[in-house]
Amino acid sequence: MNKELYCDYSATTPVLPEVLVEMMQYFLGGYGNPSSVYAKGREAKMAIESARTRIANIFKCEPEEIIFTSGGTESDNLAIKGVAQEKGKDKLYITSKIEHPAILNTFKELERLGYRVMYLDVDKYGFINIQQIEQVITDKEDIALVSIMYANNELGTIQHIDLISQMLKKYDKNIIFHTDAVQAVGKKEIILDGSNIDLLSASGHKFGAPKGVGFLYKRNGIKLNCQNIGGGQELGLRSGTENVAGIVGMAKALEIHMNNLYYNLNELQKKENYFINLLLHIGMDNNIIHFNSIKPDGSKRKIGGVINVRFDNVGSQSLLLYLDNKNICVSAGSACHSDSDTPSHVLKSIELTDEEALSSIRISFDNTITIDELDYLAQSIKEGVDYCRQMTIST
Ligand code: PLP
Repeated sequence: MNKELYCDYSATTPVLPEVLVEMMQYFLGGYGNPSSVYAKGREAKMAIESARTRIANIFKCEPEEIIFTSGGTESDNLAIKGVAQEKGKDKLYITSKIEHPAILNTFKELERLGYRVMYLDVDKYGFINIQQIEQVITDKEDIALVSIMYANNELGTIQHIDLISQMLKKYDKNIIFHTDAVQAVGKKEIILDGSNIDLLSASGHKFGAPKGVGFLYKRNGIKLNCQNIGGGQELGLRSGTENVAGIVGMAKALEIHMNNLYYNLNELQKKENYFINLLLHIGMDNNIIHFNSIKPDGSKRKIGGVINVRFDNVGSQSLLLYLDNKNICVSAGSACHSDSDTPSHVLKSIELTDEEALSSIRISFDNTITIDELDYLAQSIKEGVDYCRQMTIST
């Protein structure tokens, strides 16, 4: 059996050991309900409030602007439906065609309920067409909310969030700007103080915290309709007994990432460059390799360590199976698409044909990957590509 090589960090990440250590005390001793009045409950409540402050310090916002949730999907739902129910059906709700299903399906639900919605196009590299938003503005549409993801989960492309949000606010400061930053948090410095971001979604399991915990940043003054009705936790915006250990773990994981951010990003970039060069010089016919989020001149604006690549005449499912047999985990598009033979909506939006989209795989690693592992990964991909192409030619 080959040693496992996990290269699907955009899907989820392992819990960091230091995070687990910090969480343990809230499973074993400090397991009180944060709403209980006795000391054990107060201890849990204090742990939550301290985590809130630690996270707020990282984003330079106020602690009460952080609402803990069960993850990215819930944060997205709370943001979009929360605003829609406040602002009503007459205004326009805008998002892009390459959002995660947590956003796209929430917008479809709004549409089904009679809201006016619009989906922005992206260019060949996955960037929002800013002129299209400007056109909507010129048409004097009454816009309630714009939701644009910070970084795409399949391509890794980082949108021009500052530019877009600034332009919207210049036109009308009442437009609410939400960003699904699930793929960016922990991998990019995001300062909320002085930004034009009103709402931001994050998910712990993408940066070394466990699954099932996340948060929504809500700028003070933005009104949201609560989606989880119950005991009134989280300032009445998200009822339900808090995931104390998960929340504490998420604060710790963020601190670890942000403390070493620039060093790690630099090292990760070097490893990504090394790996891409390896793929190009490993003896594969270079004409068959296409990097879906890197421009022909080599420039890129994306999350480090996320590589979306396709090989002509190599179906992603066959290549994935070949690599899986070698105990290598990569995915075809997002985790949501990895077991499907319908082409990803993201890859279709960047003008890939069905065949090209179905030949694309996403490799995503962090800075812990070693050069030996990258060598092994590239070699295994070459073997897999050769094998799959031979099978295609001989059938
Ligand atoms: N948004 C984006 C961009 C994602 O990549 C994901 C997860 O893959 C989500 C939202 C959903 O997050 P969660 O798994 O925490 O519900």
